[in-house]
Amino acid sequence: MEMKIEPIGLPGLSLERPMVIAGPCSAESEEQVMETARSIYAKGIKIFRAGIWKPRTKPGGFEGVGEIGLQWLKRVKKETGMYVATEVATREHVFESLKAGIDVLWIGARTTANPFAVQELADSLKGVDIPVLIKNPVNPDLELWIGAIERIYRAGINKIGVIHRGFSSYDKKMYRNLPLWHIPIELRRRMPLLPIFCDPSHIGGKRELIAPLSQQAMDLNFNGLIIESHCNPDSAWSDKEQQITPDVLDYILNLLVIRSGFQTTENLSELRRQIDSIDEQLLELLAKRMRISREIGIYKKEHNMPVLQTPRYSEILEKRSVMGEAMELSVDFVREILKEIHEESVRQQMLIMGVQQ
Ligand code: PEP
Ligand code: MN
Repeated sequence: MEMKIEPIGLPGLSLERPMVIAGPCSAESEEQVMETARSIYAKGIKIFRAGIWKPRTKPGGFEGVGEIGLQWLKRVKKETGMYVATEVATREHVFESLKAGIDVLWIGARTTANPFAVQELADSLKGVDIPVLIKNPVNPDLELWIGAIERIYRAGINKIGVIHRGFSSYDKKMYRNLPLWHIPIELRRRMPLLPIFCDPSHIGGKRELIAPLSQQAMDLNFNGLIIESHCNPDSAWSDKEQQITPDVLDYILNLLVIRSGFQTTENLSELRRQIDSIDEQLLELLAKRMRISREIGIYKKEHNMPVLQTPRYSEILEKRSVMGEAMELSVDFVREILKEIHEESVRQQMLIMGVQQ
């Protein structure tokens, strides 16, 4: 579908990279919102975020202050002049947010994954002129993300941006949500005019990952960053491990290296950055595969099974070579790689047999 996306388009807002949205994960109290907003404003940030309705994994946690929080955002807008942004997931949220004069809406990752919910939002946005940022769905499904963009666009919204906030995975070792950079990169290729924000807070889940992830996003030519910042992160009611003070936020933003110059996917340095990102993913996957191999090793040891099971190895080789060929990889190359991986797996399992004997 051909889309005519317009820049986020808030009067007075520079489109220079990075456009920054910052503020607490959740609005907690009027004092917390105002104190955070004043400090963030003092750092030159133009768009303030705060979650009013919070989608929580399990019931019983803090689910947001609700409507009352919109009045606090109204006050932020009035006293600082910053634009204010919040997450909407239902038609009531849209209605209340518009009534309170919220400037930017975003759709959360869990909502993007649900076409019924996105359609409900699209229907309630018909005829409204407001920028809408669409987070990636929790699952790594680019078509689902694009589907949500199209639903909102068809409602007549053309100030659309997207937010890359990483993807859920069972294996939460380094990141809270895996970055899988190739997905937003492919989205950029398919929709070059769509502004892309990175949410390093929800990708990393930890304060120390915010700076490197923000830099990576800038190196990939993303347009903006949405970062969780709280006046007192240690006592935040949600996502406290990933929130930073406005001072730290300012420090991180000042250290960012913004490479300018015209960059397209044909540009060599951009392609090299994509290669870096893919290599990182390959290493992550290899590490994960070895962890699973070790688990299998433990199982084999407990059940008195031999490490090397030739029929299984032959089956793997056969199936993967066919798969690789279908992906235009040479059979020899695939076999060579699988042989190396298999040998390392065997080594890892032998180690387990030895160590635990
Ligand atoms: C948030 O931005 O606070 C949030 C809930 O994000 P996500 O939808 O990415 O989990
Ligand atoms: Mn959060």
